[in-house]
Amino acid sequence: MRQCFNIGVAVMLAAGLSACATESRAPVGGSMSPLYGSTGPLKFDIIQEDDATSFICLHYRGRATRQMWDKRVDNEFNHSVFLFDAYFTDDIRFEINVNPEFETMERATRESFRYTKALGQLPTMLRRGIDRFGIHDGDETASAGAGKIFVYRANAINRQGYQHLEETLFHESVHVSLDPYYMYNQNWRAAQEADPGFVTRYGRDNYPREDMAESSLLAYGILRYPGRIPEKEEARIRAINPNRIAYFATLLPVEGPIFDFPDTGPLSLEDAPEGCMTTVPV
Ligand SMILES: [Zn+2]
Repeated sequence: MRQCFNIGVAVMLAAGLSACATESRAPVGGSMSPLYGSTGPLKFDIIQEDDATSFICLHYRGRATRQMWDKRVDNEFNHSVFLFDAYFTDDIRFEINVNPEFETMERATRESFRYTKALGQLPTMLRRGIDRFGIHDGDETASAGAGKIFVYRANAINRQGYQHLEETLFHESVHVSLDPYYMYNQNWRAAQEADPGFVTRYGRDNYPREDMAESSLLAYGILRYPGRIPEKEEARIRAINPNRIAYFATLLPVEGPIFDFPDTGPLSLEDAPEGCMTTVPV
């Protein structure tokens, strides 16, 4: 901590960085009040029903022991989960772990399919960091960290009710795929410093952990899908986050393909194991 105080304010300003930010809960620059509480309840339909998905199929592998973090009890447990592999055309594959509380393979399968198409709609770069996708019952908000995303059934159903499940998954995937590499990136920190304020209170109050997940979703909406965020709101977001938006224009796939296929071309059902399910079995 001492080092922080030895660095002159002028030096910090010149570098466009706060030398102590990693140790401080206080937000970086900007005096403008956040526009929204959080992106969770926002009704902007940024990733839409008809957008392409890279999801191919879901392969059931049986029961296996996996550790699952559970917000409902604020603890991690070993569960005999329903274990699936999700296959995607861009050669991404990760496990889906369904909490045994869903009881039957049929219910676990149906529950997994709630998310698979939407997961496949995320750009390849946002799925690269997902090692495991865990599904619980209950109504907690989703959480993510260290390659794992956890979601809760009732909360997901609620989000589906206003076409916001895709956006929720976008937010969580930023935590596992971008945060580990960019949260302390110098250009990102400089953008945060230079902007007039945080776009959401949640991003500001949980700095630095939630800022990228919160602001990248809105930047992606503006840059990738013009018109999907209402004009007036877009203008407000651009005004409070001009530097963050410019940063995401270089980081996210805002033009061209969002899926990064192997040189040999997109994978198909033929590349997945026999019995891999493309839809919920009847
Ligand atoms: Zn978050």
